[in-house]
Amino acid sequence: MSWNQLAEQIHQCCRCERLVEWRTAVAGKKREYPAKSYWSQPVSGFGDTEARLLIVGLAPGAHGANRTGRPFTGDAAGDWLYQALYQYGFASQPDAVSRDDGLVLTDVFITNVVRCVPPNNKPTGEELQACRAYLLQEMSLLSQLRVVLALGKDAFDSVKAVYRDQGVNVRGMTFAHGVSYDLGDGLPILMASYHPSRRNTNTGMLTWEMWTAIFDKILLNT
Ligand code: URA
Repeated sequence: MSWNQLAEQIHQCCRCERLVEWRTAVAGKKREYPAKSYWSQPVSGFGDTEARLLIVGLAPGAHGANRTGRPFTGDAAGDWLYQALYQYGFASQPDAVSRDDGLVLTDVFITNVVRCVPPNNKPTGEELQACRAYLLQEMSLLSQLRVVLALGKDAFDSVKAVYRDQGVNVRGMTFAHGVSYDLGDGLPILMASYHPSRRNTNTGMLTWEMWTAIFDKILLNT
């Protein structure tokens, strides 16, 4: 399957009734963004298809990726992500505001484990499982991977499940900020970070120093 075919398949997905409803229902709930300006479809991955680094988030933000149609674009989590990617030489600019803002990523691909915005940012187990097939397909197309960085526990568990389903021994690999695991010969290193959600960054659960330490570690492994 080509990247274009996969993106097409993702954009047309209607598997999860609850999410199909919600991705449209949240459109226009913020005064500054009119409902008609929302993407309100599933969001496919974005970046360098020859990337050595894959970053996996949870799901589109209601008024970020669900509005703009590109992962982490147009919300506070994206501000942290793209600022760091720019600082570490993976992004051509520090801001990501729309699908046509000219941002180019080098050596990094960004995606989510769930492609539609879930109510309360909390996908169900069934939704996570249903969407994992797309993560698997993206990961199979990314042939140069050296590091997979999962943002938050749900993303970490989904990435782990993709490898487990392919016969990789992931036993004992538990989520914590800053951990990294060797998945075995020819496979990337699996790293984990707290998610740069506004809730985590505003409360100090994730500080800028903790965040950049993750990227320091990535540079040592790519
Ligand atoms: N935006 C995304 O695309 N993914 C997240 O996990 C959070 C915000």
